[in-house]
Amino acid sequence: MTFSGIARAAAAIRPLLAAGLALLLAMPESARAQPNRLGPPASAADWAALSRPSQAPPRVIGRTNLGCLAGGQALAPEGPGWQAIRTSRNRHWGHPATLGLVAHIAGQARAAGLPDLWIGDLSQPRGGPMPWGHASHQSGLDADIWLDLRPKPRVPAAMREDLTIPSLVRADGLDVDPARWTARHATLIRIAAEAPGLDRLLVNPAIKRRLCADHAGAPWLRRVRPWRGHDSHMHLRLRCPADSPECQDIAPPPPGDGCDASLDWWFSDEARQPPPRRPGPPGPPPRLPASCSAVLLAR
Ligand SMILES: [Zn+2]
Repeated sequence: MTFSGIARAAAAIRPLLAAGLALLLAMPESARAQPNRLGPPASAADWAALSRPSQAPPRVIGRTNLGCLAGGQALAPEGPGWQAIRTSRNRHWGHPATLGLVAHIAGQARAAGLPDLWIGDLSQPRGGPMPWGHASHQSGLDADIWLDLRPKPRVPAAMREDLTIPSLVRADGLDVDPARWTARHATLIRIAAEAPGLDRLLVNPAIKRRLCADHAGAPWLRRVRPWRGHDSHMHLRLRCPADSPECQDIAPPPPGDGCDASLDWWFSDEARQPPPRRPGPPGPPPRLPASCSAVLLAR
């Protein structure tokens, strides 16, 4: 290209650059800080800033990692067999089916002689992406339950903020820690995996491997899936409730107990490396379903 050609090309794109800059400056600061998570107008910070649910019938919209929640309901700070922790985060909101799931698991655990369960994050009052901590938990269908079976005195919720919950997995990541893991942990995971409406639950691969060694072939193992982290809590995900036509499920776990090559992969050199940082897929960043705009803006 000649010099004059370059000059002409530069002159042609200058208005486009100016328009792009104007658009960028028109975005709220928080949206510019999260350019890869969401397109404008809403950022994770916008969703986190909403302190109350929308006034509407409960309805799940989208997927657990790209969605939101209308008419969210709060998990009570305590109930029969459970105590919610870190409630100051204001992430103890969910679809009623999720609150029911937590209550069901806690009741079953209590009936099995287990102590109170600590319940961690569910979703923000209106779901949506979170600025930190979770990629999912966006649609009111996820809940974290801690795998901590120490007796837990009933104390005010404000005293359940700063807790240290030890890992159940050995430092090398290959097996559970025999000093901490007990058959009662397996009982709790089985109770959760058999809960009605559950899609799957996630635990550390070493925990799944221990369960496979002790319970191979058990039907409930199909819903216990290995994932990074999750060495001191399990992540529960429900299937879409019937009242939410805009809710999107992911494919169910494949048939079988999952005690197979797909589990072995988690212990390969490839899996045990930190995941490479890849640029996002080509094209614009994923957008929340359009119905979430109304949830965000509702009074
Ligand atoms: Zn989780």
